[in-house]
Amino acid sequence: MTPLFDRLDALPPLSAEERQLLDSVTALARDEIAPRAAALDKSAEFPWDNVTAINRLGLNAMFVPEAYGGAGMSYAAYLACVRELSAACASTGIIWATNFHAAKPLIDFGSDEQKERLLPQVAAGALLALAITEPEAGSDATGMTTRFTPVGNDAVEIDGGKIFITNGDVADLILLFGKWADLGDGKGAITALYLEKGAPGFRVLRKEEKLGHRASSTAALAFDKCRVPRANVLGLPGQGLPLLLAALNKSRPSVAAHALGIARAAFADAVAYTNQRRQSGRRIVEFQGIQFLLADLATDLAMCEAWLWHVARLVDAGIGDIGPEASMLKMRASDLAMRIATEAVQLHGGYGYIADNRVERLLRDAKITQIWEGANQLHRQLIGRSFVERG
Ligand SMILES: Cc1cc2nc3c(=O)[nH]c(=O)nc-3n(C[C@H](O)[C@H](O)[C@H](O)COP(=O)(O)OP(=O)(O)OC[C@H]3O[C@@H](n4cnc5c(N)ncnc54)[C@H](O)[C@@H]3O)c2cc1C
Repeated sequence: MTPLFDRLDALPPLSAEERQLLDSVTALARDEIAPRAAALDKSAEFPWDNVTAINRLGLNAMFVPEAYGGAGMSYAAYLACVRELSAACASTGIIWATNFHAAKPLIDFGSDEQKERLLPQVAAGALLALAITEPEAGSDATGMTTRFTPVGNDAVEIDGGKIFITNGDVADLILLFGKWADLGDGKGAITALYLEKGAPGFRVLRKEEKLGHRASSTAALAFDKCRVPRANVLGLPGQGLPLLLAALNKSRPSVAAHALGIARAAFADAVAYTNQRRQSGRRIVEFQGIQFLLADLATDLAMCEAWLWHVARLVDAGIGDIGPEASMLKMRASDLAMRIATEAVQLHGGYGYIADNRVERLLRDAKITQIWEGANQLHRQLIGRSFVERG
């Protein structure tokens, strides 16, 4: 591909240590993760070998502060790693990114005691899940009905259920959102807590069969008088909603980086194939119609990646109020992943529809990126609402 994408990759101001880690992730993605992706997609088996390989690099440690056994690297470095892993295997990319999504609120809002107790396991390679969605509470998460009832001073009992939870059946630690029973049913009752593997009363109801991301697990969870220590409540009861909104500002750019990994892979395949496929005595890339399409896709991809690094810079500068920027990034990156994957299939002609071709998988993997972490309709609303002046 042209040097323009290499120049974009040089944009985030990574330290020498971060560049070195990113090089190791790129090598791991190329040598181990990408070669396994097609078989894992077919079998829908959880990619334990990839998780082991990621933990061999100590990759969770990059987002955990040094004081708690981590390496405390930048958000830009983290996003670059998510994109690299996701281009190789979208399932593996989202499994690892979910560790960050569920751990970041602990880093940002946990007490010293909670961080000292839980973060070293995260740094050492624990799998995490973030459980918000319920059967009747999707785009409007505030409708959740999972209840947290205090029992004495030391315990909390959880009743309810969650659906569609990435890593839900394999997680060592689940960041769970519910409503604090004593505070009623409104938004002001929303509370977050960490549930550790093996908590009594916790059950995995089922694993979903999916269109894409088939090697990542998506589980329905049930809580029946499930007991956790009160010490696992994050922040105070009733503080869950602001905590959730702050957490989403970090996870939405992350799922955008994941979508851009899929977009990059699809674009690379489109360029490679159109340069090789011959029809009417010419390589199909020589047809102007195909050049115009590649030009449009490359331009939108480059613009969106530049915005990714813009948002990363804001987060690394400690700017918290980035809701509209994060929504723009999530919405555009995911729409673009779907568009590029669709066009990549089109450019492969009939071969693109055949399962042996990577673009067939990329198209299936791209679709969910427009739905999760807030469906794109929701992001359009959030961006639009930010322009309403308060009277
Ligand atoms: C593979 C997979 C993994 C997931 N992982 C997780 C996870 O780890 N943790 C977690 O908590 N959740 C997870 N989810 C859930 C995901 O975030 C939700 O599916 C998503 O938020 C949408 O909710 P819903 O499915 O209930 O759709 P609904 O909210 O019922 O939406 C249905 C349709 O209506 C549209 N819509 C809704 N409200 C509006 C509105 N106000 N205006 C216009 N259109 C609207 C939506 O955009 C959508 O097109 C996952 C889902 C999947 C499929």
